[in-house]
Amino acid sequence: MQHIQRLFDIHPWKIATTKLDVENRRLQESLTSIGNGYMGMRGNFEEKYSADHHLGTYLAGVWFPDKTRVGWWKNGYPEYFGKVINAVNFIAMDIFVNGEAVDLSVIEPKDFYMELDMETGILARRFTVTVGGATIAFSFERFLSIVKKELAMIRMDAEVLAGHADIHIVSKLDNNVQNEDSNYDEMFWEELAKGTTNDINHLTTRTVPNPFGIEQFTVTSAMTHNVLPTTIETSDLAIAATFDFQANAGEKVHLEKEVVVLTSRDVAEEQQVATAIDYVTKFGSNYDSLRQEQADAWRKRWDLADVTIQGDDAAQQGIRFNLFQLFSTYYGEDERLNIGPKGFTGEKYGGATYWDTEAYAVPLYLALADSNVTKNLLKYRHNQLPQAQHNARQQGLKGALYPMVTFTGVECHNEWEITFEEIHRNGAIAYAIYNYTNYTGDTEYLKTNGLEVLVEIARFWADRVHYSKRNDAYMIHGVTGPNEYENNINNNWYTNTIAAWVLNYTLENYLRYQEETTITITEEEQAKWRKIIEKMYFPVDEELGVFVQHDTFLDKDLMHVTELDPKHLPLNQNWSWDRILRSCFIKQADVLQGIYFLNNQFTEEEKRRNFEFYEPMTVHESSLSPSIHAILAAELGMEDKALEMYERTARLDLDNYNNDTEDGLHITSMTGSWLGIVQGFAQMKTFDETLSFAPFVPKTWDSYAFHINYRGRLLAVSVTQEQVTLKLLEGDALTLTVYKDSYTLEDTLEIPVKKN
Ligand code: BGC
Repeated sequence: MQHIQRLFDIHPWKIATTKLDVENRRLQESLTSIGNGYMGMRGNFEEKYSADHHLGTYLAGVWFPDKTRVGWWKNGYPEYFGKVINAVNFIAMDIFVNGEAVDLSVIEPKDFYMELDMETGILARRFTVTVGGATIAFSFERFLSIVKKELAMIRMDAEVLAGHADIHIVSKLDNNVQNEDSNYDEMFWEELAKGTTNDINHLTTRTVPNPFGIEQFTVTSAMTHNVLPTTIETSDLAIAATFDFQANAGEKVHLEKEVVVLTSRDVAEEQQVATAIDYVTKFGSNYDSLRQEQADAWRKRWDLADVTIQGDDAAQQGIRFNLFQLFSTYYGEDERLNIGPKGFTGEKYGGATYWDTEAYAVPLYLALADSNVTKNLLKYRHNQLPQAQHNARQQGLKGALYPMVTFTGVECHNEWEITFEEIHRNGAIAYAIYNYTNYTGDTEYLKTNGLEVLVEIARFWADRVHYSKRNDAYMIHGVTGPNEYENNINNNWYTNTIAAWVLNYTLENYLRYQEETTITITEEEQAKWRKIIEKMYFPVDEELGVFVQHDTFLDKDLMHVTELDPKHLPLNQNWSWDRILRSCFIKQADVLQGIYFLNNQFTEEEKRRNFEFYEPMTVHESSLSPSIHAILAAELGMEDKALEMYERTARLDLDNYNNDTEDGLHITSMTGSWLGIVQGFAQMKTFDETLSFAPFVPKTWDSYAFHINYRGRLLAVSVTQEQVTLKLLEGDALTLTVYKDSYTLEDTLEIPVKKN
């Protein structure tokens, strides 16, 4: 049985519970995280909470290079590990009633209720406590504005139900925060200034110096309240405004906190205080109108992106949760940013950019956002081409090696089997250029920046392969494939496949646009690339009819996951790393990742054999795994498997499938549920510049519906058990394919569902 832990109720729009789960507080915090692409935080409480939890506030693009510490240094290791750093806690409001602290880890609350409303991006909580001899009903609400990115609004209400209450509130900007993963409890922040101007309290801090030449970030936070404070208190790295209210039974207390946060990414250190004060004043503290503005802005996002599912509320909640958290992390507004694997929900993993973006997020943003958003993601990599060249040189290689983990383009992950070996990532960067061009029909990017990136990636592969005389073939040894449960393997089918594909695609487009580019690939270099493409070695097993994951994979003790006692799962929490590496169990799509990317190059029989061979050995312990399997299973008509995989990706965090959501959400894999429905159940494909569908609805659902942008059009797709309906909402008529038949969509098409 798969591990499932469900803390929140099933509701189509809400993540809600009536239980304060002290045992699983970290998990609750991860699942109630909010963000606005600029800043974000875990679902921490405003008031003090002293039991186990993880306080975490994060600012996009603000990070720290932490020295790589290894026992035995080897040439080529990255010098530092890039950390997402915990930043100023600006929601803090400690509350004391008649001298006693309101702390839900000490006082058991009654009528506890917490909800994250995904429709509006508002987090709310209420509870009743008897504290200091008084009984009080508290409620809190907060949001991070998606309209005014620097703005956070927090509201607290208290109603005394019995007794008399002297309520003392300490509302803080508190930068006394640490990373859970700091090596030796280091503080990453130092104070520069704090003060109060026009009833606005402000605090300026800066990341501590580092020896790697990485910029230090300065952050100013400022706050004001709807009532004047009793006192202003300061301490190291913190400033607080205190409030005192007296209330008898039946009386209410109300406090609003408006916060602005600025970073040196946008505003120079010397101007931050004045700008923060200006913004606090300019944004105004009309809570209700700002709240309405927030709700309206989320409505707009949902109008385009919402996927509706009839007949399965758990599935519905899953996809909305994923879209909500994904857009809370990245909505394409700032081209200097990328999509971190934990977004604003935790610190694990480090870095802001992984191959996840190109492989898993690009297809979604292509369909659900303006094409500039994807172009920005591509440009981000183009801007980092010099750093990628640096990474290749670190390994003694030509061309460009995009990093596995980075903030700047320089590799900042410190495990050799990832940094040196997981080089397949380079292929995904190139694939995204193809994906963008093929989806949008815009060749401008490809011809210019795109080609520059492609050529350098191709040069890397041409240098990284070696020629095996014995086999008269080019090989790639010493790699880690997408399946990180094996290292230092030779001829990973996926890596060899994507490398040959990059060489081919680059050459093809170089020749196509040769006249329009300043790039030169000499005849000699071209000849070498051709030879590699022609003689690349791909491990296959004719008898089994499968592409072999790598040279010695078939010599392993092959068995299915179902043969394992479930108590061993997840393997990464129960087995030694050595045992995992020697086993046949696969972390995530590897051969199947290649079949997904280059889907139109394989026969149905090849897809089926490989799926049936590899999936049963796959433990899906990477959050990226289930979606690719859902898509391929759907294509192969394995509807139950497709649904199982969809549920796993859609509810991966909500049901804590991998037992690690307490560390934060799996943001980059959140595209998986959308991919599962759109590319899986609806079988949307865009190969060869043709939009095609072959939809079905899982047996247990009634219907689903979604929108997509495609080449200047907006389409609405809805599928019931009986009928596919395609509507052209904006743009010119379009020729497309449904179940292999060609149609012209001018207004509406209604086509009966083809049953398998
Ligand atoms: C996966 C990688 C992925 C990373 C970040 C790892 O567990 O194996 O493929 O890039 O997580 O999501």
